[in-house]
Amino acid sequence: MLKLNKDQQVLPDGGHHFSTRGIMFRADSFEELLEKVADFRIANMILPGDLNEEILQYYAECFPQMVLSDGKPYKPKIDGTYEQWARWMGMAWRSPVKANVAPKEAEMRTDICKTCPRNKPMNFQESPGLSSLKQRSYILTRGYGNTDKINFCDLHRADISVLSFSSTPDALSEKESSAEPQACCWVGSLKGS
Ligand code: SF4
Repeated sequence: MLKLNKDQQVLPDGGHHFSTRGIMFRADSFEELLEKVADFRIANMILPGDLNEEILQYYAECFPQMVLSDGKPYKPKIDGTYEQWARWMGMAWRSPVKANVAPKEAEMRTDICKTCPRNKPMNFQESPGLSSLKQRSYILTRGYGNTDKINFCDLHRADISVLSFSSTPDALSEKESSAEPQACCWVGSLKGS
């Protein structure tokens, strides 16, 4: 497994940098670089992936002084729910709903979600882009969302807080057509609204 050699005084040529999708990102620190690349991917609906490892692998190849290895094999740390949520949030941020329902209406919806088995925890580990995504969720719900019981819907594959404010939630749902509907769900009952 690789980790950043924080004691290294000689930075990569040109400072911390990484190229993704043909765009070169530069930053004053490794952490800033992670955030910048994660933000770009999220905004463009690209899965964040294990960005830390990706950049370390690049450094190991081109600037080996920047990494330390403990000799153990790399273990992927991808959280599937986080990847789905991050990608969906990127989509919701790029095409925010034009009409929001009132907070009271959103609350009535999320009250249903609180006891629904498709409401899955979002106990995500700290990772690049996480705080920026949470901030976007907060903005899209005008500060009303993200209570501890409102999380990620693994049926509609959506952030429940954000979804609950949409006047056309069905359009934001990424439910697979073959997936069984959830009997208690308010999204299906509003189809075509
Ligand atoms: S299936 Fe419907 S009721 Fe259940 S968590 Fe998802 S949005 Fe909420």
